[in-house]
Amino acid sequence: MHKITKNTAIYSMSATNAPVLTIQPGERVIFETHDCFGGQITTPGGFTGIDWSRINPATGPLYIEGAQAGDVLIVHIEDIAVNDTGIVAVSRSVKPLGHLVMDNELKIVTIRGGKAIFDDITLPLNKMVGVIGTAPVGGAAILCGEPGEHGGNMDCKRVAVGAAVYLPVNVDGALLAMGDIHAVMADGEIGATGLEVGGEITVRIELMKGNKKNVPLPVIMNDTHVMSVASDVDLDEACNKAVENMAAYMTTHGFGINEAAMLISLAGDVRICQVVNPKKTVRVEMPKSILAARR
Ligand code: CA
Ligand code: CA
Repeated sequence: MHKITKNTAIYSMSATNAPVLTIQPGERVIFETHDCFGGQITTPGGFTGIDWSRINPATGPLYIEGAQAGDVLIVHIEDIAVNDTGIVAVSRSVKPLGHLVMDNELKIVTIRGGKAIFDDITLPLNKMVGVIGTAPVGGAAILCGEPGEHGGNMDCKRVAVGAAVYLPVNVDGALLAMGDIHAVMADGEIGATGLEVGGEITVRIELMKGNKKNVPLPVIMNDTHVMSVASDVDLDEACNKAVENMAAYMTTHGFGINEAAMLISLAGDVRICQVVNPKKTVRVEMPKSILAARR
């Protein structure tokens, strides 16, 4: 099994990042990842002393042999292992509650037996990968803290074990990177973090030559749903894009546009992934059983 260590952290996704490992499509890779603070936080408290240039690292990038612009990278999330402590924060500078927060706070939470121990409250884990993306189009460099059409910091709780993340290939080798595991997170991530934790992500990489299925990238698929994901500085616009992407996918799979609109209305849950990154992220969850009706 290939493994990339967290020492390879990058802070933006870009064609200029030198690959740290090359694999063939079909292979498995373990990405060891820092938490979103780059492992700097070992004691509870405020934000003083944090080196903000080391925030939101992603491990990689990984070069996939044969991947070329126009192809689709399919990243199967096979396992997520987390360390035994996580960090949750609240920040005065993050809406919608920041103006009510008295002081910035970092809280260290023990993870034990598949649960997070938040003082007297025990939360079941829903481990997910916050940052997963490829090098964006052209020479652009997008900070790992930002989501976009290349994936990135989507903070979508559906990027979990058993899911496949479909990402665009924009440059030779795709240059896949990931990080920012959350041990627990709810839709919205409204305090600015999930339960941030270092760990290891095991993935299997598949390459689709050309976008034969007209997948509106990025898309997440799991056993039951196809989920279009879109991000924008404006939440309304993120919602519009995610819905349009799902409708576009449906119209290339045998549905008329009116039929697609009706069925998204009836069965496609529109959900917020996060509202705390520079661009907000929305997903539309469409049951595969409905999509299969016209295939
Ligand atoms: Ca994140
Ligand atoms: Ca995070």
